[in-house]
Amino acid sequence: RPRIGVLALQGDVREHSRVLTDLGADVLSVRRPGDLAAVSALVLPGGESSVIDKLSRAFGMREPLRAAIAGGMPVLGTCAGLILLADRLEDGIVGQQTFGGLDVTVRRNAFGSQTESFETDLEVPAVGDPRVKATFIRAPIVSEVGPSAEVIARLPDGGVVGVRQGGVMGLSFHPELDGERRFHKLLLDAARDA
Ligand code: GLN
Repeated sequence: RPRIGVLALQGDVREHSRVLTDLGADVLSVRRPGDLAAVSALVLPGGESSVIDKLSRAFGMREPLRAAIAGGMPVLGTCAGLILLADRLEDGIVGQQTFGGLDVTVRRNAFGSQTESFETDLEVPAVGDPRVKATFIRAPIVSEVGPSAEVIARLPDGGVVGVRQGGVMGLSFHPELDGERRFHKLLLDAARDA
């Protein structure tokens, strides 16, 4: 059984753990640097990216996480997790840092107060049919895509809400809240291949 970590500093850790368990993975809540050595892939959950950033530094996790991602560990980040994977942040709070891994720029809370939260169906060829039910909650958007990253999901208006670079995948939405398991399945496949 593949052993998959969920970064458990803040955010919707339980929902991700549930999906991974349902897919037959062994799930480890990652809180300490040593935990990383025990997993073959990692999930960065939704939550509040600035809080996860601060806690990762307080717990001595920032550099180990950066190193693991740069070293090729497969990662799935949703919402705040996408923000943490972005190489560039348009509007973080003062001093906010990311782990990097995706050659993109991300804008936080990109949908304004009128649409803090919404749902839509997305066509995502990387996971096939049927369409993905996508829930956006104070969601970020990818505002610029560099040459190393590949777009995997767009809103009907063209806005980029899913990107991939090697085994690293970032989504603006929350498959873990919608019974959508196909992205986690891709992560398990990448863990097996890595
Ligand atoms: N707005 C949050 C952030 O900046 C992300 C929201 C989410 O993960 N649902 O981190």
